[in-house]
Amino acid sequence: MKWWGWGDEDVAFTHEGQPDLGPFLQRHLEIDVDRVSSPRVAFGDLQVPEPVLPSALRGALETAVGADHVSVDARDRVVHARGKSLRDLVRHRRGDIGRLPDVVVRPGGEEALAEVLRVALDVDAVVIPFGGGSNISGSLEPPADDTRTIVSVDLGRMDQVLAVDETARLARVQVGVSGPRLEEQLNARGWTLGHFPDSFAYSTLGGWIATRSSGMQSDKYGDVADLMRAVRLVTPTGLLATRAVPATSTGPSVREMVLGSEGRLGILSEATVHVHRVPARRMILGYLLPTWEAGLAAMHGIAAGEATPTVTRVSDANETRFSFATRKTPTPLDRVKSRALREFLRRRRDFDLDAMCLAFIGYEGSERHVRAQRRLVGRIVADHGGVGIGSGPGALYDQKKFDTPYIRDYLLDRGALADVSETAAPWSRLGEVHDRVVSAAQAAFRSLGVPGYIMCHLSHSYHSGACLYFTFALKPSGERDPLADYDEVKSAIQQTFVDSGATLSHHHGVGTEHARWLEQDISAPGVAMLRALFDGVDPGGNLNPGKVVGRTIEE
Ligand SMILES: Cc1cc2nc3c(=O)[nH]c(=O)nc-3n(C[C@H](O)[C@H](O)[C@H](O)COP(=O)(O)OP(=O)(O)OC[C@H]3O[C@@H](n4cnc5c(N)ncnc54)[C@H](O)[C@@H]3O)c2cc1C
Repeated sequence: MKWWGWGDEDVAFTHEGQPDLGPFLQRHLEIDVDRVSSPRVAFGDLQVPEPVLPSALRGALETAVGADHVSVDARDRVVHARGKSLRDLVRHRRGDIGRLPDVVVRPGGEEALAEVLRVALDVDAVVIPFGGGSNISGSLEPPADDTRTIVSVDLGRMDQVLAVDETARLARVQVGVSGPRLEEQLNARGWTLGHFPDSFAYSTLGGWIATRSSGMQSDKYGDVADLMRAVRLVTPTGLLATRAVPATSTGPSVREMVLGSEGRLGILSEATVHVHRVPARRMILGYLLPTWEAGLAAMHGIAAGEATPTVTRVSDANETRFSFATRKTPTPLDRVKSRALREFLRRRRDFDLDAMCLAFIGYEGSERHVRAQRRLVGRIVADHGGVGIGSGPGALYDQKKFDTPYIRDYLLDRGALADVSETAAPWSRLGEVHDRVVSAAQAAFRSLGVPGYIMCHLSHSYHSGACLYFTFALKPSGERDPLADYDEVKSAIQQTFVDSGATLSHHHGVGTEHARWLEQDISAPGVAMLRALFDGVDPGGNLNPGKVVGRTIEE
């Protein structure tokens, strides 16, 4: 993973072969795609401070995990210092690397992990569990002013599927496993977890649980909170183990307390998760809806009806325009087809092409099941004035989804900041939340006097509502810290979420980025309860301090 950006060192986003993208970015963000205007500093120019690691602690850590798995390497420490939020990337790129972990430790199993925690707590060190480092809520960064030794515990060596109970359809898995490694092991036995966040390639089961993650196929498989049946968590007072029972009435759910705990209650070693048989057939179909309102109504109709698709996603008009701008250079045949489609939509279906919205619906299961589902969904889409556009666009979306994250680095190179904010709200309020957030972001762009763009899609449908996922980008003025401009837009969006009765985040967690909206979301007694939980389990404030509700021990 790059120390300054997303993903593989050898992979980068490019506008080459997407002829409409450059003009689109020039028009909306005023950037020249052919010019890298904001290069990052070179790794060699970073001022990496010496680690503060008492030799007794180093010795104890080496005894626990083996000397080869205790690292004070500069690059290792820089990579483990933060996640991949926009703020993380901007600061890393300009050489502001902040408070680094003093040491990165890689235990190979639960016993070693417990020993790491024990020896670290013995000397009052800070312990920060590290999965894939992909969080975007500031969930990994050590507090800048903490003078204690900071130990980053990287779970990457604990990556095995330990057992599959084929009758119960449950798998016991070590939580350091990344998405691809997990699916590879499960698929080899004919199973899948079905959890595919956009960060799939680099995030881990432990990180998903600790941030309450959600994958693109959550409509069928559920969020990680639904998928995770039991956990093993190494805590300061011993191993917390819950049972992998389908339901239980054992008071407030300890399992739920661990979900979203962001390393503040201990370090997860293992989880038991639902698994499903790899489906015989899988496909994602594209649809066009005449307006955003029609798109929302169609998704609501699907959620309220008998269809059970795996993916339901509809983009608003702005995101639809962006999607079309990323189209590959069309062949002459593509051009003819696309002209014919536009004519058909305009003349026969009375579409306003500027208002139309692109949707993707995913189907999985036996051939028969998929056919029946497609029929049900097709009827609902048609009832809302929509048309199917086949499997081509869906297949393309499916292929490209893990490449899209690289665009943030591409934009940063060209002086533009792009980020996401996502929320969930009841069906009855989604339209209002969308419109208010778009207005708030546009007002922020105007008041800053900078070009900006905001777009949204609905994904992850539930019985009572859905997730709205906003992507926004701006080209800061250059007259002040770009992060100050960014903060104004991001805060306007987040504040509008909570003011509109929506949640501060649907699946990115709280970390430090969203902590200031928590009380407005879950009320003051809710925050007090979380503080009491964290302080009770971790009276020394050693476990990933400052995340979710801020540090309490020193206050
Ligand atoms: C480009 C991009 C796309 C993304 N797309 C999605 C998406 O589609 N869906 C989604 O849900 N999220 C998404 N995210 C956010 C991110 O991937 C999730 O927050 C993910 O769950 C983090 O997992 P991780 O393994 O990288 O955890 P990390 O970032 O390493 O850690 C996250 C938090 O979990 C804690 N933690 C990690 N492992 C453990 C453990 N074993 N025990 C206790 N605590 C632990 C850490 O201390 C930290 O507080 C995206 C992020 C990026 C950058």
